Amino acid sequence: MEPYILIIEDEPGIVELLDYNLKAAGFETAVAHDGDEAELALSERTPDAVLLDWMLPGVSGIELCRRIRKRPETRSLPVIMLTARGEEADRVRGLDSGADDYVTKPFSPAEVIARLRAVLRRSRPATAENTLAYENVTLDQAAHKVERAGRRIHLGPTEYRLLSHFMERPGRVFTREQLLDAVWGQDIYVETRTVDVHIRRLRKALNGEGERDLIRTVRSAGYAMDMDAPG
Ligand code: CA
Repeated sequence: MEPYILIIEDEPGIVELLDYNLKAAGFETAVAHDGDEAELALSERTPDAVLLDWMLPGVSGIELCRRIRKRPETRSLPVIMLTARGEEADRVRGLDSGADDYVTKPFSPAEVIARLRAVLRRSRPATAENTLAYENVTLDQAAHKVERAGRRIHLGPTEYRLLSHFMERPGRVFTREQLLDAVWGQDIYVETRTVDVHIRRLRKALNGEGERDLIRTVRSAGYAMDMDAPG
């Protein structure tokens, strides 16, 4: 079945651009122009993913994202935030509110579609019980064993926990703060640049000769495990 995408956006030109290109790419779409319409559309049918504009009349995109994350039936629904240019602090706030990724306006439809495909893949990350898989990487949680294309990867405990966290939700962008909370724990004080050090080690271990980098650096926001999206 075609993935069903809810577009929440008030600018007619952007709605038209997204609606046309998503349909052409084989998605089924619905449009909501504000928070109320979005709530109604969400209650009628749960989409496979949501494109959510930050600046909406009435309820903001951030607030709507928080509400989506609070409700059990939409808690794991992929959300991609559409943000205006030059709002880097806002983007981090968007990710902290629970958005999976963001696209900066003006964007190309191809970029939005690539990000959508990446977040849609996270709904089927597991191959077997206790084993996570993404692209040619497998992580056996019971045996603490990581392989890429059959090659055994040796990781330190922090890199292992980082990779495991990414592989549970491929395509999702995590801020450094979110990674610190998830991997180091909330009670421990660690500088955010420590995250960068361990990401570097993880990349070095994971990426062999001629293999694609599976970790995407999202400028001034954080990191994601993601092969589809550019950058
Ligand atoms: Ca808007």
